[in-house]
Amino acid sequence: MSYDPQPAGSHYIGGAYVEDKAGAEIAVIYPATGKRIATLHAATPAVIEQALAAAEAAQKDWAKWSPRERGRVLTRAAQIMRERNRELSELETLDTGKPLQETLVADATSGSDALEYFGGLAATLTGEHIQLGDDWVYTIREPLGVCVGIGAWNYPTQIACWKTAPALACGNAMVFKPSETTPLCALKIAEIMVEAGAPAGLFNVVQGYGEVGASLVTDPRVAKVSLTGSAPTGKKVYAAAAGEMKHVTMELGGKSPLIVFDDAELDNAVGGAILGNFYSSGQICSNGTRVFVQRDLVEPFLDRLKERLGGVVAGDPMDEAVNYGPMVSEKQMRIVQEFIRKGKDEGARLVTGGGQMAGAGFFLEPTVFADVTDDMTIAREEIFGPVMSVLAFDTEEEAITRANATPYGLSAGVFTRDISRAHRVIRQLEAGSCFINSYNDAPVEAPFGGVKASGVGRENSKEAINHYSQVRSVYVRMGDVEAPF
Ligand code: NAD
Repeated sequence: MSYDPQPAGSHYIGGAYVEDKAGAEIAVIYPATGKRIATLHAATPAVIEQALAAAEAAQKDWAKWSPRERGRVLTRAAQIMRERNRELSELETLDTGKPLQETLVADATSGSDALEYFGGLAATLTGEHIQLGDDWVYTIREPLGVCVGIGAWNYPTQIACWKTAPALACGNAMVFKPSETTPLCALKIAEIMVEAGAPAGLFNVVQGYGEVGASLVTDPRVAKVSLTGSAPTGKKVYAAAAGEMKHVTMELGGKSPLIVFDDAELDNAVGGAILGNFYSSGQICSNGTRVFVQRDLVEPFLDRLKERLGGVVAGDPMDEAVNYGPMVSEKQMRIVQEFIRKGKDEGARLVTGGGQMAGAGFFLEPTVFADVTDDMTIAREEIFGPVMSVLAFDTEEEAITRANATPYGLSAGVFTRDISRAHRVIRQLEAGSCFINSYNDAPVEAPFGGVKASGVGRENSKEAINHYSQVRSVYVRMGDVEAPF
């Protein structure tokens, strides 16, 4: 570890660290050891006020910058993030427990991709001209104002950047509240934004539990709320934002299907299922946790999966040879253990795993259940841990019907060598992010987000611009106005 993770203050507002110890304590626990590595405090009403006032003032100025200049700040920030990838990755590992082997390639790099992409896009954002005979309409694409971002704990750097990059590119300011479980990473991004030339107050970070998020959401100065979190929190935040007709993006949970046909290339299908269940120890919203395998292939699939799980190297996440980390918190570990208990109680066949790993920290074995039926708790509810359910199916039609029988719709995947079937099936699956012979890719160039209870709005790609800007129309009459009287 190259630096002490204790920040100079809990919050970052107006270009500087801010502390108010009157706020509730937030203990930052390193999940690999269970030890406290930093202590922060939740934002008090005075801190929240300071952040919103700073964002409001900075946004007015920022909106007047030329889009090209705004883009340049974001691209510079992207470059700084890449230069500091190791330091930022170590912090991400301390915050979340994810192995450095992962964080070096998936977190600050993904955040940097977003800043680079939206930095490049900024100067291309325009309104349009609509000719109507001699008259015409032009449209003005404008920022929304002050945006609030609220993050989950699994990808603290990525989530902060995925929200902030398009928001700032469009001329908005951001007040970001990280998850109370992983509060450290966003503070570093705030420092980097200022270093890259962003005006003080454009990107602010305030810490806190749900109440802090709730008071940000209802503040009349806030034009837009983007939440990454669970579906129950999403419903509350969406409802609170609706009270004042605010814009929202909701990136919520899932219970996504991954369908493996018997003509699939077995190792690729197993690889996809591993990525979609055990990367980040299963703490990924888009995971394909219901793995539907065509009946003939079930046992070969399970055999190969068990073999490949022999390659799991759990241990000190800072050791780059380690490829499997702990749960983010003791609380999350207990939640997942309860699901494992229900899986056993309800009659699923435990193929491998199921227990806590020896030693300190919140490590759970990669767990695979077979003979899972659609009515079991582990097949219905989001677990958010390393628990895969394998469900046998016979026909294509049956697989599609069962895959869609969930309130969620974040992701879906299909493994088959039959390309016609792949497209036919994917078109019928109710999910926002779909994969053919792959799983869990999330490049910034592609829209990301869910349908049904998994959310509204899209992050990444040009789509995100529509969620951080609005369009006004101006009608221009060239002749006289004809009125009835
Ligand atoms: P969570 O819903 O408990 O919390 C998310 C955030 O919302 C936290 O910052 C929390 O403090 C805040 N919050 C809680 N109550 C609030 C309220 N009433 N008003 C405003 N803010 C409030 O989720 P979590 O446990 O941190 O994260 C795991 C969940 O996030 C999973 O369901 C997962 O699927 C989802 N997730 C979704 C995506 C996606 O992009 N779709 C990505 C990562 C995680």
